[in-house]
Amino acid sequence: MFQKILIANRGEIALRVLRACKELGIQTVVVHSTADADAMHVRLADESVCIGPPPSRDSYLNIHQIVAACEITGADAVHPGYGFLSENAKFADILAAHNITFIGPSGDHIRIMGDKIEAKRTAKRLGIPVVPGSDGAVTDQKEARRIAAEIGYPVIIKASAGGGGRGMKVALTEDDLEIALQTASTEAGAAFGDDAVYIEKYLQKPRHIEVQVFGDGFGRGVHFGERDCSLQRRHQKVWEEAPSPALNAEERARIGGICAKAIADLGYSGAGTIEFLYENGEFYFIEMNTRLQVEHPVTEAITGIDLVHEQIRVASGGGLSVRQEDIKFNGHAIECRINAEDPRTFTPSPGTITHFHTPGGLGIRVDSGVYSGYKIPPYYDSLIGKLIVHGRNRVECMMRLRRALDEFVVDGIKTTLPLFRDLVGNADIANGDYDIHWLEKYLAKEE
Ligand code: ADP
Repeated sequence: MFQKILIANRGEIALRVLRACKELGIQTVVVHSTADADAMHVRLADESVCIGPPPSRDSYLNIHQIVAACEITGADAVHPGYGFLSENAKFADILAAHNITFIGPSGDHIRIMGDKIEAKRTAKRLGIPVVPGSDGAVTDQKEARRIAAEIGYPVIIKASAGGGGRGMKVALTEDDLEIALQTASTEAGAAFGDDAVYIEKYLQKPRHIEVQVFGDGFGRGVHFGERDCSLQRRHQKVWEEAPSPALNAEERARIGGICAKAIADLGYSGAGTIEFLYENGEFYFIEMNTRLQVEHPVTEAITGIDLVHEQIRVASGGGLSVRQEDIKFNGHAIECRINAEDPRTFTPSPGTITHFHTPGGLGIRVDSGVYSGYKIPPYYDSLIGKLIVHGRNRVECMMRLRRALDEFVVDGIKTTLPLFRDLVGNADIANGDYDIHWLEKYLAKEE
């Protein structure tokens, strides 16, 4: 087991990882920018190292400074959290070259899944169902027209290097295809330095369903069931739940089994998430994230398993603490992402939190690094906390969520809490009847 882990992140996830390390009796080092000197994870860590000024590229993305912080403090492993360097293959390689363990998969696996064309090809080879589309990058119009006609309109043009919902264009008919191809490719080149794009069938009313997987480092793979993250705004998840209200036990076991086998065949090590669009009973792979996800606590709630403990165990060579047959699903969990944003316009609302009171009671978990008097710096993501609620079934979970949202107090800044108070009372949400476009339509109506 590791002696000392360096946490290369900030905010709620840095605290989340720190808690797991403390439970396992592992010393912690955190790195932080000058803007985060007063952050909760910095106060609670055994050691902290300031690695630079506020902009992420000078601090949380500064590989040299982070490696130097490992060497100075003698950390033997790095947990990257999510975002920042968590899916940076070069970072994983550099740590390996310095004999520091990256708590995550190999650089090669990160690289395969970071390139969407390569990821899709790999998924297909491993028997994972994919969205019908071009077999690789598409460059000329004639070929694009032929493929689009074959799979049928509407189609979506996606950037191979894409991420964060950027570099995607929909063509409803052949008339839109030329311009969609051109703009997607130009945007991808400008945003990612790689203008390769590919074509997929555009699914009209899918749900976003993702499977939590783990490779144990010894060639075995398991799945921890799915999460439904269909409630999104601008491709950003807002509300996540497990299990999905749309799946039955047979579908869950089928897709979970396919994913676990793929992970084993790939020889993957650590946590991963295989993301699908789901429509009319069919799953269509869209991408794989090679890290811990923001929404991992809903899976923890229904399985009772600490996924960060498992990540640390696997990275240290100790394998998983569970086999597939030990993973049981119990009840229902929902996570609300609480952002420091205006609940209507979603413009960021940094500033000082004058009062912060979190709900409690059975089935309630709040993961947050903020506190009364905390000043939210304007430089980073606006997520200030996550409310995760568990109940024996979805109805009980929703009842508890409504009560927890009423108790939650954040004063001094605007937050997205009022949006969740609206959603929890909505009939479609109560029925679990929503697709990936539901929230945007709802918000447009509310304006
Ligand atoms: P990113 O890495 O940029 O997040 P994804 O491939 O994960 O890109 O897609 C992000 C979102 O875009 C999906 O959750 C879905 O809302 C939409 N999307 C992607 N591919 C399709 C498709 N073939 N049909 C319909 N919507 C899609």
